[in-house]
Amino acid sequence: MIHLIRPSISFEEVEPELRAMFESGVFTRGKNVEALRSEIGEYTGARHVYTVTSATTALWVCLRSLGIGPGDEVVVSDFSFPASANVIVDVGAKPVFADVSPDHYNMTPEALERALTPATKAVMFVDAFGNPTGIHAIREICRARGLPLIEDAACAIGSSEHGVRCGAIADLTCFSFHPRKLLNTGEGGAVTFDNPDWVEWFDVKLGHGASGALGYGLDFTDYGYNFRLSEAQAILGRAQLRKLDEIIAERQAIRDAFVEEIGSLGFRPQEFGDDAVSNVQSLVFRVPPRFQRDALIAALRDEGIETTIGTYCLSGTSFYRRRHNDVQPVAQRLQQETITFPCYGGMDVERVLSAVTRIAG
Ligand SMILES: *Cc1c(COP(=O)(O)O)cnc(C)c1O
Repeated sequence: MIHLIRPSISFEEVEPELRAMFESGVFTRGKNVEALRSEIGEYTGARHVYTVTSATTALWVCLRSLGIGPGDEVVVSDFSFPASANVIVDVGAKPVFADVSPDHYNMTPEALERALTPATKAVMFVDAFGNPTGIHAIREICRARGLPLIEDAACAIGSSEHGVRCGAIADLTCFSFHPRKLLNTGEGGAVTFDNPDWVEWFDVKLGHGASGALGYGLDFTDYGYNFRLSEAQAILGRAQLRKLDEIIAERQAIRDAFVEEIGSLGFRPQEFGDDAVSNVQSLVFRVPPRFQRDALIAALRDEGIETTIGTYCLSGTSFYRRRHNDVQPVAQRLQQETITFPCYGGMDVERVLSAVTRIAG
């Protein structure tokens, strides 16, 4: 079976650091977490980095840091994993779904303009499958209106637009370190931002509410949380961050081979803007109109090749359809027409392409 993904990390790569961790007895809040934070900052160009337990946690924390709650609306890209909208509901605010481009799959400026109301308090742009195309245009609209821009860059570590990496574009950027993403710590995530005014809030809230010492203990000046990444996870993250550019290059080469081979069969790849670089977190195409996407997934499974759908039309899930009854047409079509092919370094590209060609040719 050719699976959708294979982690790009081996035990041998992290064995010395893991051994050192056991010998030191420091399993959390150690040098590896601190190093990962500064290395993510260096890599992305972001000034401040906080590692957390997942991208979902990261997004939720960002909404809390902005004080978003009941009565507020947050505009969110409609073609994404439900976590993007779920966190908005969880803080008591209302997600307003902005439809996406049928070509690059991201929120469009027109859809954002349509979704804005006096109750809008923030915008959440999703880099679909790691593709940041259009985020600068969205940022311009947000800046003109004084709205904070949160980037759900769960998939997008290493991607860039106009030469700026994700992490240094939006006001607040959230990454995921889930195994389906490029940098895998089992579970994990990070928030990045530039604004020095937010440092204190993140330090205190992500540290149980403590700010500084009181005698031999801590001074708990607020209530807070614990969403920490552990040392073992940070060791995994650091090992992959060191070779992230290589991992991305491999994925881009696999995408090029697919575009060349099955583009002529009518499979349309997710497109990237002229000045956008995607890390190709997922290799996604729209299937030609003559095909049933689900039938193709089933036929490829019979050939020993794992594929899956693209992602979800959030406004069309049972939950959000029931609550809002506002299904966005492009996102809905993309959920029905997109397929994700396997993509990882060392995979048997020829075998997958010949199976697709045989079934679809
Ligand atoms: C994977 C993903 C998430 C959730 O990430 P976790 O780290 O698993 O919480 C959120 N948004 C998008 C767009 C994703 O792809």
